[in-house]
Amino acid sequence: MRKPVIAGNWKLFKKSAEAQDLVTNILPLVKETAGVEIIIAPVFTVLGKVKDAIDGTSVMLAAQNCFWEEEGAYTGEVSPGMLRDAGCSHVIIGHSERRQYFGETDATVNKKITAALSTGLTVIFCIGETLAERESGKTFDILNSQIRDGLAGIRREDISKMIIAYEPVWAIGTGKTASNEQAQEAHSHIRAFLAGLYDHDAAETVRILYGGSVKPENIKGLMAQRDIDGALVGGASLNADSFAAIANYN
Ligand code: PGA
Repeated sequence: MRKPVIAGNWKLFKKSAEAQDLVTNILPLVKETAGVEIIIAPVFTVLGKVKDAIDGTSVMLAAQNCFWEEEGAYTGEVSPGMLRDAGCSHVIIGHSERRQYFGETDATVNKKITAALSTGLTVIFCIGETLAERESGKTFDILNSQIRDGLAGIRREDISKMIIAYEPVWAIGTGKTASNEQAQEAHSHIRAFLAGLYDHDAAETVRILYGGSVKPENIKGLMAQRDIDGALVGGASLNADSFAAIANYN
């Protein structure tokens, strides 16, 4: 049994007062007993504030990115150990916005995953095809190479400590969700590819989240799919009622 995960990716939104408001509004609305893991990923500057607010609850804290070195002369970076120190249990790595705007490649994603796992962070590893790639029939090839290269050198025992987020780039922030069938097809492909890279049991334990315009209206249909184990929610996670409705989908 894979425990469902609902993660809110706040992206570049919410300064301290707004972050404080949002998290304190979310907490009483989410059913903590529902058997769903709830994760919030705010910007670096408010990690401490959100950490204090969720203290004593089962809600967990994620960062949206990290560097691969633990310390050194790397102006402007934040290391996995520093995220642990700030109270994070999770880190999102390889989000398509980082690949698109900040030059992240499968190789840099791989270095970040390796470093984050070594500090004990749970990695939310994002993959997904663009619209052009989907339309030219390359979706599965792209997913395969993102997984193969992103997970190079990652051992089987670490795979169970990871969460994969399938986020078709054409569905992120566009209001266009993949249909339940399109999402399930991609998730089932990802699980089968992981079974080939590792083995069946390892692939069956990995949670695979769907991301891309997830809303209260479409979460139930997505969660009813065999290989969809949760959601990485952007826009709808910025509103307490919407995020709670998604987290309380069952
Ligand atoms: P969205 O973003 O829900 O706003 O489409 C999802 C994400 O980028 O993680």
